[in-house]
Order: sequence, then structure tokens, then C-alpha cells
Amino acid sequence: MVVVGSAIVGGAVLVDDESGDDDESPPPEHAAAPRASAATSASTQDRPGRMEAFWPRGAAAPAHSVRAVSTLTEVMGAHGHEQVVFVADVPTGLRAVIAVHSTVLGPSLGGIRFWRYATEADALADALCLSEAMTLKASAAGLHQGGGKAVVLVDDPEAPRSVELLHAMGRAIDELGGRYLAAEDVGATTRDMDLIDEVTPWVTGVSLDRGGSGEPSPITAVGVVAAMRATMHELDGTRDLAGRRVAVQGMGRVGSSLTGLLVDAGASVLVTDVNEAKARAVADACGATLVDPDQILLQECDVLAPCALGGAVTERSVDSLRCRAICGAANLQLEDDRVDDLLAERGIVYAPDFVANAGGIINIAEEFTGYSLDVALERVQQIEVTTTRVFDLARARGIPRGRAAIALARERIEREGAGRRWAPGDPAAWTDGAPLRELRPAAPRSPALEQGRHTDRGQ
Ligand code: NAD
Repeated sequence: MVVVGSAIVGGAVLVDDESGDDDESPPPEHAAAPRASAATSASTQDRPGRMEAFWPRGAAAPAHSVRAVSTLTEVMGAHGHEQVVFVADVPTGLRAVIAVHSTVLGPSLGGIRFWRYATEADALADALCLSEAMTLKASAAGLHQGGGKAVVLVDDPEAPRSVELLHAMGRAIDELGGRYLAAEDVGATTRDMDLIDEVTPWVTGVSLDRGGSGEPSPITAVGVVAAMRATMHELDGTRDLAGRRVAVQGMGRVGSSLTGLLVDAGASVLVTDVNEAKARAVADACGATLVDPDQILLQECDVLAPCALGGAVTERSVDSLRCRAICGAANLQLEDDRVDDLLAERGIVYAPDFVANAGGIINIAEEFTGYSLDVALERVQQIEVTTTRVFDLARARGIPRGRAAIALARERIEREGAGRRWAPGDPAAWTDGAPLRELRPAAPRSPALEQGRHTDRGQ
């Protein structure tokens, strides 16, 4: 991205950058976000997670690429963000951004993403996009919490983080007094959450022996299957997945679990991953068919399930799709809201991403009252009902399904929100009027944890 600088160092610019995207290492969900001008900011507000380009410090660009300039607080105001916290801890090397989008339904919750960002501005944009999407996700799922997100700038997302860095992050989260509740996101592990849990009560997704809900991905996959059943019903009047052909993009934690569930349900599954070994291992284990990553969007199938990174479906790729529906786990699957329109025009049923992939946060919310896997699974199945409500609303209002999901989420916030921000010491919906002091009933600590040995995600 190239933009002309303004006098606002570290600020943000709204640009219509027609010069193309030349980011070296775009963040996963923000990667495909379009550049929005002031003139398009109204449509940006209609759509979550579509954030303006931000001004990288010291960047320069031809003047013609800039349509309007705005400060960070103006961008926050336009999208309804309540608070953004920048964190720097020199001794541990921690550099992070915590974005609280909304606490109107309750404390904001969202994962911590550890990622290598090309610029600090990209990290900020990712936090802003994703936190806004978390607000809509929680609302559509009927949860009593708002949306937040944290990003930590790292050189290698795969490398384990030091205990000191995670403790520093925990202290930053602690200072927000519960306005931001952390969880896992891309690059994060249950071990990370356990270490953050050592310094703040405001973290979820900790391991089961700490009273947490552990790794969320298999339950997220259960939710995607529920959304897929609603999608099949929308298409053909039957929720049966047997005999369906599903193309799954991304054989990571969710995609691999989803493949197993679909095969068990009698579907025939095509799988791919940029990491071929990963895809081959899942294909061999589940009896799925391996497809080249470049070919997955072109497969003739009932459902395309994006389970990799954001922006899987673009304006350019819509015409070449040969699926009848899109339903997957990835956040911000559509490049922009125009793709939502184009899918509706082509008669491709889109199960909105933040409705279909809410299983993870529905599962986490069970920690607040004492985690039970059975109860969590029962609640996650409700995604089928929510997805059907979105489809019905789209039909009733004559609008694309993505916009219908946003309307559903926003209208609940209007109807049930407190009308004001959640403050530390306020009760939460599950505390019977008492101030929120702890996130979950105390669980006995295991000897292994007490000795500082932590279970990692995926173990
Ligand atoms: P992951 O990192 O475990 O897996 C992502 C996989 O996608 C990796 O194997 C990667 O190699 C592959 N990939 C990347 N680009 C690709 C491409 N162009 N084509 C094919 N494969 C590609 O992530 P995950 O936890 O499984 O999450 C997948 C998506 O679902 C992410 O967008 C995430 O934000 C979203 N999501 C996850 C959860 C959860 O519970 N894990 C919950 C909600 C949403």
C-alpha cells in the first residue's frame, strides 16, 4: 500500500488506493480488504471487517492515490470502535494493539493474533477489522458479550513466545479490567492462554484443567456443519449432507476437523492446502480427494468451504465459481460487500462467515458458568437455527444474505444492548447482578501446570 503521508504521525488515512496492493506481507484477514474512500465509508459501515488502509509511518505515495484523509479516532468513530490500546514493553520485545470495538452487550471478547505484519499500520487495521466482526459474531450468536481483538507483532508466528512476553501481554489485558477478554486466534496456543492466565483473570480458551474450554477448533467445525445443514435446506429443502460434494480450502485445525465430520455424514469431500503434506495427510486419513490449491474454487460442488485465510472469494473469482453455496470457517471470506451482492445475483447461497464460524466463541462462553462440553455442543448446534433465520430475513427484505446477517446482529445490539459501554466492576449477564471479578469458577490446578509445564494446542 502506498499513500501520501499527512502531518499525523501514527495516524490513519482513508484512501482510495487505485494503485493496487503492494503490501509485502498482508495480514490474513485484512489482506483482501479494499481501500475505502470517504465517499465509500457509508458502505464500509454496512459491512464489518472492511477497513480503510492505514498510513505506514514514513510511507510516501503519489498525491493522486489519496482521496480523503482521516485520523485514527475518526476511523474509530466511523466504525463504532470504543477504544484502541497500543502496547510496547521494551524488556520483553512486546508490541501489540488491543482493539475494543463494542461493549454494549457485555465485555468485549476476541482472540489474540500473533502475526508478522509488514507495517504497524497493517496490524492496527487487522485489529480494527477483526474486533468489529467479533461484535457482530457475538450478537448474532445470542451471546452477552461484545467484540474485541488483539494483535501481537512477531517475526515468526510459529515460534513459541517467551513467558515474559506473554506475562507482559497479560498485564496489558489486566489493565483493561475486563473490558477486553482474550482468547486464541491465528498463531496462538492454549499454552499462551495458560501463561496469560497466570497474570490476569481476563483470558479464556485456557486448558481444561484450568476450568477453560481448551482448543476451540473442533467445535468451530461442528458449528460449520450446522450452518451447512441450514444451507442445504435453503438450497434443496433437505438438511441431509449424505451424497453432497464439498470442497474444503485449508486443512488447518478447523478444516481438518470439518473434513472428518463431513465424511462421517456421508459427504464426498475435496480438500486442499498450500501445505500439500498437510492436505495429503487429511485426505488419506479421511478418504477425501486431494485437489490443487489453485483449483479448489473451480470445483463443481454443492458447497465451497473456505477454511484458510480471509478474502477467499473476490469480485474477480465469483464468475468462475462452480459451487451452489459457500459455507466455511474463515473470517472475512468475501473480499467486500459487492461480492455478497454478486453471489446473490448468481444464486449462490452464502452462509455468512461470522454466523457459520461462531462455534468457537459459543464454546468459550460456556466457561463463564462452568464449562461443560455437552452443553457447549448443544448450543453450537443452534447455529443451524441462526443461519436459517438469516436466510429468512434476507428473503423477507430482499437483501443479500451477508447484509441480512449484519442487520440481524446490529438490530439485536439496538434492542438488547445496555445503551452504554461496559465498565470494570459492572456485572455481566451471568453474574446475577454481582460485579464481574472472575471469568470462571475456580478449577484445581494440575501438578504439571504448577510446575510450569503447559499443554500446547494440538497436543
Ligand atoms: P489454521 O492456521 O490452523 O489453518 C489454516 C490453514 O489454511 C493452514 O493449514 C494453511 O496452510 C492453509 N492455507 C492458507 N492459505 C491457503 C490457501 N490459499 N489455500 C489453501 N490453504 C491455505 O487456522 P484455523 O484455526 O483452522 O482457522 C481457519 C480459519 O477459520 C481462519 O480464517 C480463522 O480465523 C477462522 N476461524 C477459526 C476458528 C477456530 O476455532 N480455530 C474460529 C473461528 C474462525
